[in-house]
Amino acid sequence: MSGTVIIEGAHIVTMDGQRSEHTDGHLVVFDDRIVTVGDGPGPRPEGARVIDARGCLVTPGLVNTHQHLYQWVTRGLAVDDTLFGWLTRLYPVWAGIDEHAVNVAASGALAWLARTGCTTSTDHHYVFPHGGGDLLAAEIEAARAVGLRFHPCRGSMDLGRSAGGLPPDEVVEDRDAVLAASADAIDRWHDPAPGSMLRIALAPCSPFSVTGELMRESAELARERGLRLHTHLAETLDEEDFCRERFGCTPLEYVESLGWTGPDVWFAHAVHLDDSAVKKIADSGTGVAHCPSSNARLGAGIARSRDLRDAGAPVGLGVDGAASNEAGSLLEEVRHALLFARARGGPRALAVRDALEMATLGGAALLGRTDEIGSLEPGKLADLAVWRIDGFAHADIADPVAALVLGAPPPLELLLVGGTPVVEHDRALGVDAEALARDATAVHRALLAKAGG
Ligand SMILES: [Zn+2]
Repeated sequence: MSGTVIIEGAHIVTMDGQRSEHTDGHLVVFDDRIVTVGDGPGPRPEGARVIDARGCLVTPGLVNTHQHLYQWVTRGLAVDDTLFGWLTRLYPVWAGIDEHAVNVAASGALAWLARTGCTTSTDHHYVFPHGGGDLLAAEIEAARAVGLRFHPCRGSMDLGRSAGGLPPDEVVEDRDAVLAASADAIDRWHDPAPGSMLRIALAPCSPFSVTGELMRESAELARERGLRLHTHLAETLDEEDFCRERFGCTPLEYVESLGWTGPDVWFAHAVHLDDSAVKKIADSGTGVAHCPSSNARLGAGIARSRDLRDAGAPVGLGVDGAASNEAGSLLEEVRHALLFARARGGPRALAVRDALEMATLGGAALLGRTDEIGSLEPGKLADLAVWRIDGFAHADIADPVAALVLGAPPPLELLLVGGTPVVEHDRALGVDAEALARDATAVHRALLAKAGG
């Protein structure tokens, strides 16, 4: 751990209960926790590392609530297709992934997330090809190397094409095998302790790739073991058509019948919701991971983030997999969340500080960790981002939060996770970026060759 670190001279956005901001503020970190936040220079304990952050904005670290890390090595494919067309193109490529591919992809995606202000990320890994090796271990190793707080979701698919699902049979698993692997992942890695760097969630993939039995049994297992539940829902109209034809109801009605609503559940996307679905999600305390760039990239639509927030649903942000969001930047999602909300709902649909709130406190709520992350308050974990906003691109924007949310992505001076530096001067400390780029290119080519071009 890091001893004492003092950040001073910055504009600090705390996201505390009063939404306090300190124009010329200080923040003191001891080991992995925040000790004090306030105006002026603050205390200077002996031996402390002092960071002069004049010209910088300090925010809570961003929380990424939906991602498929392995997709970092399958970017730029089916670039003009629908979700179902894109999936059908990509499933055979994904069928070739192994431990090395997942480790390279996860290292790249997580290092880039860190570079864009993310301190905690989920992953939703649902492709486990036969003979692919220990894929969850491969991504957990990557998260440790990069240094991010990590909530990998053990995903799954058990509804192959021969049984009426969308994915080819070679990428789906047997239901009992999924449940055994899920229990094993919990035993090996889930750490419920305060300050945890790693928590598992369970995450069957979607209504069109998973059986109802697996959804129900995954929920039972998660609740027995005190884990959270995650899945894709209401992403496209194709999915809605699939559910109406197969189950005679909407995607939300379907998963609700399987026990998949509640404060321990969060859905990715939730784009296609009518008013009663918005109310049902909010009333049940179910969370939503809003992924504006991916939804736009696949032409899925614009989620009703304002309506969900007004109804009281927790809403966080996610980059989604890099195969449908090649940028993979969490800060960019904050900007897109704001722009798309206003494009849909008018100029007052989302304020700049509310967009940042979704990426911080909103994300923390989805992961059940608002007591530890999402705001800068004494006693909370020292997960924070120090953005430089006095340069060419931002210096004349008077409101620092507007500079961050509306302006170009600023340089990231420092990213702390539990008080430990993960990014300094725009460089992710845990990886060799050039080597990673070479490795990712090689893996991408090998996967395409394996899938037949
Ligand atoms: Zn997704």
